[in-house]
Formats: sequence, structure tokens, C-alpha cells
Amino acid sequence: MTTLTIIPIPTFKDNYVWTIIDPTQHKAILVDPGDAAPVLQFLKQHHLVPVSILITHHHWDHTNGIKDIVASYPIPVYGPNNTLTEITHRVQEPDYIYIEHFTISPQIFNIPGHTLDHVAYYMPDRLFCGDTLFAAGCGRLFEGSAAQLFASLQKLASLPDGTRVYCAHEYTLNNLRFARTIEPNNPAITTRLQHAQRLRDKNQPTLPSTLREEKATNPFLRCHCPEVKIAVEQYAEMALSSSLEVFSWLRKWKDHF
Ligand SMILES: [Zn+2]
Repeated sequence: MTTLTIIPIPTFKDNYVWTIIDPTQHKAILVDPGDAAPVLQFLKQHHLVPVSILITHHHWDHTNGIKDIVASYPIPVYGPNNTLTEITHRVQEPDYIYIEHFTISPQIFNIPGHTLDHVAYYMPDRLFCGDTLFAAGCGRLFEGSAAQLFASLQKLASLPDGTRVYCAHEYTLNNLRFARTIEPNNPAITTRLQHAQRLRDKNQPTLPSTLREEKATNPFLRCHCPEVKIAVEQYAEMALSSSLEVFSWLRKWKDHF
């Protein structure tokens, strides 16, 4: 089986367009191309031909590049049910999609919360989750409820621990500083923060992470842990009876961090 290479193309301030490359065929799949110019330049520079685009949700910084890319390469655009006319193939859970020229068949998960249309693409050991699960954090609630986002994150967290997490923004340092505020005595957070700082000092991406790392350091996946619950109860100034309530207050706290 061909070994795929997965490269982040940086766009805007902190977005990544994940590019899944089959180096033997010189073909590529583009995930959430929010800006066409850096993507087209990357393809040209590396002599790659794109074969399809995967879209996780409708936000402009994930989708604005589609039009100019398909003008050069008329390729299928997979994405969720929303108003974007550039999407040629609508996907939803429990679909699997077949991508021409590639031996992978990404599985779709519906993961509403950040937006209502949000989907993830999962192929064994690799998860492209847009703005839902971030390294040490999660997306803001723009359209869905806390309960929806909580359930979506639980769904992703149930995948195997070794799954690599390819999220769409470089938010890791800020997220880890927040995580350290919640759990100052968690050594896994301190170690991860130091490692992430070293990578960012060299302008390298902190991604992908793994679900194992996320479960050890991401407060939004740790709402069931007593230390997280106690910290959030102090912030909320009330006792919280469920992991969902802890999550909901944690999300509010992060919004103002
Ligand atoms: Zn978004």
C-alpha cells in the first residue's frame, strides 16, 4: 500500500490546508482550502495534481479558495449540507466516500456544534476535524449548542487513541496556556506546552496531535476529571452536576480567556 504524505499549507493568520499526497502518483487531496493562491503555488512547486477537495464546514476561511482551485482543476468537492454552491458531492454520517486514484475511503462523522453543518473525515488513524477538536482545545460555539459540541467531541474521542488529529488552526500554544490554568498540576500539559513552544519558536506546526495526547491534556475532553470539575466550579461559583455542565462553563471561560 502506498504511503501517503500529509502536509499543512499555511494560509491566513493561523489556518492550515491539509494536503494528503500520494507521492508516487503526484496526486493530492485538499482539505478546507480557504485561500487558493498558496495552495495553487504549493501544487505547482511540488508537481502535484489535485484529485478532490474535502470541506468540513461552511466558514469562509475553509472554503473561499474552492472557486479558483476548481477553475484550474475541475475536481469533485465533498462537503456537508449547507448553502455553498461549490460543493458537488454532499456527505453526511454514515457515508464513506471513495476518492478516485486513492486507496483510502474516508468515513464521515456529523459533528455539529461549532457550526451546524460540521463534518469530520476519518480514515483509520487519521482524523480531519476542521474547527471542532483542536490541539488542547475545541471550536467556539457559533451555531450549535454546548450539548451538541460536547456530544461531537465525545464521538471523536471514542476513536482509537493512536488516531492523529489534523485540525484546521494553529491554536495549540494559546490552548495549552488555558489548559495549564485549568490543571496547573498536570505534568502532561506542562511537557506538551514546552514542546509546542519549541516547535513554534522554529515556526513549525504543532500538528498533528494524537487522541491519546488530547485525552491527557485537552480540558474539553477531560470534563469528567475531578481536577477539571473543581477548577470550573470555582470559575462558575456553583456546584456542577454533570460533565456537560462542566463543558459548557469551560467553553464560556475559554471565550473570555
Ligand atoms: Zn470555523
